[in-house]
Amino acid sequence: MRFEPTEIARLYGRSRVGVVVHKDLQAVYVNDAYAKMLGRRDVQDFMSEPDMRQYIPPSFHHEAEKLAEGFQESNGFHGWKKVYNIRTDGTPVWMEISDETVEWDQGNAVLTTAQMIDNGTTAMQVDHMLGRSFIGVMVHRNMTALYVNDAFAHLMGAENASKFMENPNVLRFIPEQNRPRALKHVAGILSGERHGDRHRVRDILDDGSSVWRDLTDERILWHDGKPAVLTTAHDVRDEVEMNDELVRAKASLEHAVTEVIRLVPSAVAMLDEDLHVINHNYEFARMFGVPNTDGDAPAFDISALYECCARMKLNGHGHSTLDEMQTPSGRLADIRMNMMDGGGIMVSATDITDHKRKEQMLDTLASTDPLTRALNRRGFEIAVSRLREIRHLKDKSWVFGLIILDLDYFKDINDTYGHAIGDRVLEKVAETLRQALRDDDLVVRLGGEEFAVLLPSATAAVTKRIGERLSNMIRAIEVPVSKDSKELVKVTASFGATVGGEGRHKSVDLADAMALADEAMYEAKDAGRDRMIFKTFERDPEN
Ligand code: GH3
Ligand code: MG
Ligand code: MG
Repeated sequence: MRFEPTEIARLYGRSRVGVVVHKDLQAVYVNDAYAKMLGRRDVQDFMSEPDMRQYIPPSFHHEAEKLAEGFQESNGFHGWKKVYNIRTDGTPVWMEISDETVEWDQGNAVLTTAQMIDNGTTAMQVDHMLGRSFIGVMVHRNMTALYVNDAFAHLMGAENASKFMENPNVLRFIPEQNRPRALKHVAGILSGERHGDRHRVRDILDDGSSVWRDLTDERILWHDGKPAVLTTAHDVRDEVEMNDELVRAKASLEHAVTEVIRLVPSAVAMLDEDLHVINHNYEFARMFGVPNTDGDAPAFDISALYECCARMKLNGHGHSTLDEMQTPSGRLADIRMNMMDGGGIMVSATDITDHKRKEQMLDTLASTDPLTRALNRRGFEIAVSRLREIRHLKDKSWVFGLIILDLDYFKDINDTYGHAIGDRVLEKVAETLRQALRDDDLVVRLGGEEFAVLLPSATAAVTKRIGERLSNMIRAIEVPVSKDSKELVKVTASFGATVGGEGRHKSVDLADAMALADEAMYEAKDAGRDRMIFKTFERDPEN
């Protein structure tokens, strides 16, 4: 059939049936009824944007294009069908349409007639599409339900949809404090100002129990021609309960962690990402606590841990250690730290102060003589190598003066006054040596009644002078024979002295110096005792 625009306008221009003629989904003619059905002011408004796709829901675009193409290539009438289009204001319009191929200008076009499907159709469509859905569906206006499916009815505690509709007021399910907000929300959806994205609400059912639902709201046009709100509701009670369960589990886990932290004997603390202490035990407070100026929260000084934390973040191992750290409270601690999920750090500190003290005590026992508290040979060697290292660290050469002294006729003291008095003399000699010397000087009991004194950095002249002083001081020792007796034991010693170390021309190690000093000491014995002989490997001993 061939149509002229004027003819079609005469035929359909004032018809209540909507008519549109289109080519490739571009309208070439529309009547007033069709334009208004799609939400346009009038024909002119419609034709200002003639693309028909704007009214077709996107998921049907492809199908509509294919159909239109097919119709344009064939002839005749293509039958009736029900479709829905979207008006310019976003509301759907349900229509019964027919399509017919017509000749138009040079080629074919499609003439579509459309009638809005009348009252009851929206409800029918909603029920048809969503009636048996397991998702709850309700259509309502101003909190009065116009339609519910069975799933929705069940969700709200009713037996079925028809029982539910005996009391269609749904405002009663909303906790009172939420009602103003809910009403505002629904009004916004109805007016088209608001979109009802998924949100979670808690409703109170008629039996007082509560139900959690995830909702979406959508504006639709109801069959009375006025907008209504289509609500879908999804029961999320299980999800919410599981979430509650998780929250409870997490809280109890956190409680358990706090308890464990409290009970472990080590100092333990949890730090957040910014290295603030967020959890700690008593031990930790004892080690890292500092007097608090503002009074409330406990204050800690963990600045000594910062470097270790930074190192751990850098090395990427997730853990780090710091041995023998001095804590603000003056304790000595071994530190372990671990990265936790979420960037926090777990710090544990083991107080090794007592352990260290015992270790030092054992060390002292192993390196000193219990009677005189002077160094034994082992302690002497350790002390000498330590002193030498320190000199080297300071980039200075290691030189020393060495004096060996052996008490004269000591056997006679033992024989005359007894061993206890002999011991007392030995103690007194060691004490005298210590008092006469500086802290850096070493006093050694080589065995029996033989002692050595090492003077770091001492020259030959200094060594001789000190040797003379020691000789005088020993000569001045007086040990009472008993409490009652006025008799005093006196003693002298023979001295052999030398210097050693890293000399300009030749180095003299400790063993060589000891041998030489020993030799000198025996020469002093031979020369009549109670004197000092100085010997040296150097040609000019005064240097
Ligand atoms: P000289 O002048 O030649 O050194 O004579 P001396 O008697 O001192 O030498 P000798 O080596 O003959 O004697 C050392 C004595 O020191 C022998 C030993 O009984 C005594 N003696 C060694 N150790 C101790 C000790 O721990 N306590 C006491 N009371 N005596 C000790
Ligand atoms: Mg002796
Ligand atoms: Mg001796």
